[in-house]
Amino acid sequence: MQTLLTNDPFQAATMLRSGRLVCFPTETVYGLGADAFNEDAVGRIFAAKMRPLDNPLIVHVSDPAQVKCVARHIPPAARTLIEACFPGPLSVVLPKAEAVPSIVTAGLDTVAVRMPDHDLALTFLEACNTPVAAPSANLSGRPSPTSWEAVCDDLSGRVDCLLKDGRSAKGLESTVVDCTDHSPGLLRAGAVSVERLLDLVPALRIDPIETVGELRSPGIHHPHYAPRVRVEVVERPHGTATNAERAYIGIDAPTSSAGYRLTHVCESTDEYAYCLFDFFRRAEAAGVGEIHCQRVMRHGLGRALMDRLEKAASSTA
Ligand code: AMP
Ligand code: MG
Repeated sequence: MQTLLTNDPFQAATMLRSGRLVCFPTETVYGLGADAFNEDAVGRIFAAKMRPLDNPLIVHVSDPAQVKCVARHIPPAARTLIEACFPGPLSVVLPKAEAVPSIVTAGLDTVAVRMPDHDLALTFLEACNTPVAAPSANLSGRPSPTSWEAVCDDLSGRVDCLLKDGRSAKGLESTVVDCTDHSPGLLRAGAVSVERLLDLVPALRIDPIETVGELRSPGIHHPHYAPRVRVEVVERPHGTATNAERAYIGIDAPTSSAGYRLTHVCESTDEYAYCLFDFFRRAEAAGVGEIHCQRVMRHGLGRALMDRLEKAASSTA
């Protein structure tokens, strides 16, 4: 299959409407989209990504009003979050409408919905005139793509179209919040901080990630975010006795004696999040044997960043 590269959101939308797979930019990471109501097309998302069928997809809408096309009803906490955070890097899990094929939600009776805060994505989604099911546009298990070039690395020839734009401004995936019962709970830390969510919904449960998160969000146990290079979370940059070529990303600058071949020193946690997945891919391309990633405080975006670092480290151990 030839992948069409385009800057034209209307051309990309025409392809999606005819049942094709279209990758598109968002402020979190690039997505791999299909018409959420087209079962065959959604099935091809799983094949293209080699994604396990038990890992549900997030449905993308162009307007908060479109949420009711995919959700049976919108509980009060979800209403609050949608009003405050749409468009934005937040996915809310809601009771699923009948019309949404079960392949989209991996058989769950709930559906995750998000409206991206990205002009080109919104123009594209509006022109699609249907909700768009879209996981991240990487091969399953690999780091999420934050540039169109990274999408090409993983999916060139496996998807019909790629709507090109610049780097994703956040660089980390959306926060996922389960709003299906009376006490909403965090399912995945992400680009909207927990502190912000607690301001909006003080009753939000933060613990479900460790407890019921596994049951509510089945895909969470799969390997994630992993480059083809070993990842180690370190307190600070340091040298080792071995001669293995290593890369480093973090906030503290390494001394030259640490001997890193590739380094990226970030000024803030935001910049660290923005650069992480891109750095993973650069380190792979440079052929290093190991990536050291500095630990950060689990505060603000730091919580999501630590989640990705720990998953990448355990998936490459
Ligand atoms: P990705 O788009 O690749 O970042 O993956 C989407 C993630 O969103 C999944 O792995 C789940 O953790 C979560 N998710 C999507 N739909 C649901 C749902 N209906 N219930 C709970 N979690 C979901
Ligand atoms: Mg993903």
